[in-house]
Amino acid sequence: MKKIVMKFGGTSVATGENIRNVASLVAESVKQGSGVIVVVSALDGVTDELFEAAEQARKEKQAYIQAFKQRMLERHCIAIKKAIKNAAVRKEAEQIVGKIIDELEKVLTGICYVGELTPKSKDYVLSFGERLSAPIVCGALRDLKLKSQAFTGKEAGIVTDSNFGDANPLFNVTKHQLKERIEPLLEEKVTPVVSGYIAATQDGVVTTLGRGGSDYTATIIAAALAMDEVWIWTDVDGIMTADPKIIPSARLLPQLSYQEAAELAIFGAKAMHPRALEPIMKENIPARIRNVFNPENPGTLISSETTTTRKDAVKAVAIIKDVAMINVSGGGMVGAPGSYARILDLLGKNGINIMMISAAASEANISVVIRRSLLGRALSALEIALMGRGFASDVTAEDDVSVVAAMGANMKGTPGVASRIFNTQAKNEINIRMIAQGSSELNISFVVKEKDGKAAVQAIHDEFKLDII
Ligand code: ADP
Ligand code: ASP
Ligand code: MG
Repeated sequence: MKKIVMKFGGTSVATGENIRNVASLVAESVKQGSGVIVVVSALDGVTDELFEAAEQARKEKQAYIQAFKQRMLERHCIAIKKAIKNAAVRKEAEQIVGKIIDELEKVLTGICYVGELTPKSKDYVLSFGERLSAPIVCGALRDLKLKSQAFTGKEAGIVTDSNFGDANPLFNVTKHQLKERIEPLLEEKVTPVVSGYIAATQDGVVTTLGRGGSDYTATIIAAALAMDEVWIWTDVDGIMTADPKIIPSARLLPQLSYQEAAELAIFGAKAMHPRALEPIMKENIPARIRNVFNPENPGTLISSETTTTRKDAVKAVAIIKDVAMINVSGGGMVGAPGSYARILDLLGKNGINIMMISAAASEANISVVIRRSLLGRALSALEIALMGRGFASDVTAEDDVSVVAAMGANMKGTPGVASRIFNTQAKNEINIRMIAQGSSELNISFVVKEKDGKAAVQAIHDEFKLDII
């Protein structure tokens, strides 16, 4: 029996019709004899709405919560109606969804009363999107006469540390529990549907794996249960030379190595969670990115093989939009051992991940790129800790920037790639704010003003003729 983890993203399960489509894709593989574990995201946009509802609750907006509850209930009930035909199965799904939404209302009301939103309670709120989608997908599978059972990440046995909002899986205990709870179902011809993105600490407190985390759930399960393949079903044909929504002429990449795909994922190809490849890379389990709306297309295969079908060094170009750049400068840093370390340590201690870093040889300046949403926290931490000590004299920030990254395994050891990249930018009169090249030489990334982002990507796509095979 071929064992496959199939993960379906938000757009794939956005509506009842889409959920039926997902169910029939799964049913087809199961009927052909494969053992399938399904991992689902929340219905498209629901996680964002939960974010907003949590914020509104913190601001004690009771009326918002009531309207939100109604909206959630309606959306999920309409999805059930379209996804499930059998009256009994439909009723069961409606009851489950109704109960979960009642619980959501209670949680939000609680936050409203306290007027405080902790990372822990925020994760709890965010978990509801995937808690709601899994029972509906499970119902749709039953509707097609498959045996199926729904699990939250916690019920499935995925255990993490308590780094709320971006929790890290504890692999050994997770593997043990998945083997106990999920693996036997495959032998019994039951198709488990696991909520992506969400898990729990050892004490059972709900956590999330970071945005886009359903991909990670899928690969954690695949590695733990030694599955044969992971299929990441999404709304585009696979991983492409650029985001097709920005560069319409972007071309599908039929094959990528784990390293190349990981590099792309980290640099904003939203097609995958940045850490999702780690678990399967270790176990050498291939992943396929496929289009739910175009299942005939074989998609992108990610495996240990590096393909060198293309001689050109750059294989793909990505853009990350929601970032900010911080510059710390001052004569006090010159020749002062540990000054860079202190800055990085400070950011780390405040839970701020550094996406890109560059320092001048003069030692008088260091620039870092972080998520834009963390800018306020980063600036206040830096200012409080560094100012008035003669250590750094100036902390400035730009929040209207984007990171552009050009990637490809053949960049390694190919001279002249950087000059081609930067020449095209100059020709297009795009000003470059900061540059970094990973020592892996798999990518060159740079910061431009946000308004120049699309042109910067297009210029590289054109220069390296990425739209032509
Ligand atoms: P899902 O909901 O299925 O997880 P995501 O929205 O997280 O989907 O990721 C898929 C989206 O990633 C695509 O719709 C596409 O716009 C975007 N994307 C960005 N860069 C790329 C790329 N290089 N190749 C394919 N898709 C990309
Ligand atoms: N629903 C979560 C998000 O929007 C996880 C995911 O879709 O992978 O980030
Ligand atoms: Mg995603």
